[in-house]
Amino acid sequence: MIDHDAIYLHHGLPASPAQMEQVRADSAVNVFVVQQAGGSGSIGVIGYYDLGRDWIVIQRDQIRPGNRTLAHEVGHYFSLLHPHFGWDGAAWDSVLHGNPPGSLAPDGLTPVERVDGSNCQTAGDRLCDTPPDYNLGLDWQQSCTYAGGALDPAGQVLDPDERLIMSYFSESCRRDFSPEQRQLMRADYLSAARNALRTAPPDTLSTVAPVSDLLQPAPGGLTDWADSVQLRWSSVSGQAAYLVQVDRSPAFDLSPITRLTTESVCS
Ligand SMILES: [Zn+2]
Repeated sequence: MIDHDAIYLHHGLPASPAQMEQVRADSAVNVFVVQQAGGSGSIGVIGYYDLGRDWIVIQRDQIRPGNRTLAHEVGHYFSLLHPHFGWDGAAWDSVLHGNPPGSLAPDGLTPVERVDGSNCQTAGDRLCDTPPDYNLGLDWQQSCTYAGGALDPAGQVLDPDERLIMSYFSESCRRDFSPEQRQLMRADYLSAARNALRTAPPDTLSTVAPVSDLLQPAPGGLTDWADSVQLRWSSVSGQAAYLVQVDRSPAFDLSPITRLTTESVCS
């Protein structure tokens, strides 16, 4: 975690991308928490995934219990599209798009997805377990059961999945990824493009022998303070020094700190 006031306070200035490039970590999902995701003076953008730079920017007020913005952007990071892909720039409107609408979405390229599943592989997000959604959540925040009456091109009533985190339905509805969405994210994580995320954790004490015993805190025990800890271990005769590694992750894969010491205690 990096504390960087300029990135936090002034996101959107021309200097921001260069500052962000300087601190990014290649072996991590880079998430920048900023005061205003749309830049100063801009409203509406609360978070986004930058495909070109491969990082996530999220507004500070979105980091709270029950909020799905970060999960949504992580979905984009791992290659997911909105279930309403094709309707990103214009949510369905009976006056503008007709009811039933034509066969092409407002982006002019994507087929309008049909309820019977006949074009699910080429329409919307190209997944077949996310039913047609013409960006309906944008104008339907009042409940988790869409009843706005949108029809597909064949005249069948739409029944979107309001639970999908990748949709635009309200925070209280969104809570899940579909099985195919999970499969796709897993495939992206395992792809060559994501090799850096799967680097093995650094060598830990298992490669050093003999190993001394941790005396304090007790293994698996809680510490008195969240931001500091005193470690004490049994001394091993004949050792010139001890290699101590500390990390906030039990797998030692977050940002391990390594210290070489001749003492048998360190803070
Ligand atoms: Zn999105």
